[in-house]
Amino acid sequence: MAREIRVGGCVLRLSQGDITACRTDAIVNAANSTLMGGGGVDGAIHRAGGPAIVEECAKIPAGPHGRCPTGEAVATGAGRLAARFVIHTVGPVWRGGGKSEEELLASAYRNSLLRAVEKKCASVAFPSISTGAYRFPIEKAARIAAAAVKDFLAEHRAPREVLFVLFSAEDLAVYERILEPLAQDSLTE
Ligand code: ADP
Repeated sequence: MAREIRVGGCVLRLSQGDITACRTDAIVNAANSTLMGGGGVDGAIHRAGGPAIVEECAKIPAGPHGRCPTGEAVATGAGRLAARFVIHTVGPVWRGGGKSEEELLASAYRNSLLRAVEKKCASVAFPSISTGAYRFPIEKAARIAAAAVKDFLAEHRAPREVLFVLFSAEDLAVYERILEPLAQDSLTE
């Protein structure tokens, strides 16, 4: 089972644990469009980071689709967290696959990576976006996440290190299985 792939001088690595403890330059939050906090990883990030994060989010003007439309990403400071930035992105709610969910999930990863590069982050950690309360099937989500990051790293050669931080051993096992064929490719490229 594969724990990492190397692309364009960068590495995509899997780990298991609590993303709020990550010492990467940025951590990505699976937020909702209000950016005012929520459950799951969003709640954990705001609890650990303290009120400075939501105070900064509140200053972002809300449009018709909230402060951050689905598939987009915005960066704020990280309050008390070890990371320097929190990149808030909004993954799609899974509605059966006919509502552009796959494209929107790939966009959430890509736009988060763009924010990380703009902030000159060398390392960024992602949770498994949309696979909790938003019910996106995990195998499909893992495949989209890995492909989106791999393609981004091949094109931009940054950030140097991308971590997928899976909360459960079951989720980690799914991501390991998905990464396996990509790891084979990365050896031969
Ligand atoms: P979404 O609404 O995008 O589905 P959730 O927060 O409900 O977001 O779930 C996304 C994933 O984040 C799930 O796999 C969940 O188990 C995981 N998760 C929850 N808390 C944490 C945490 N502290 N660190 C890393 N992952 C977490």
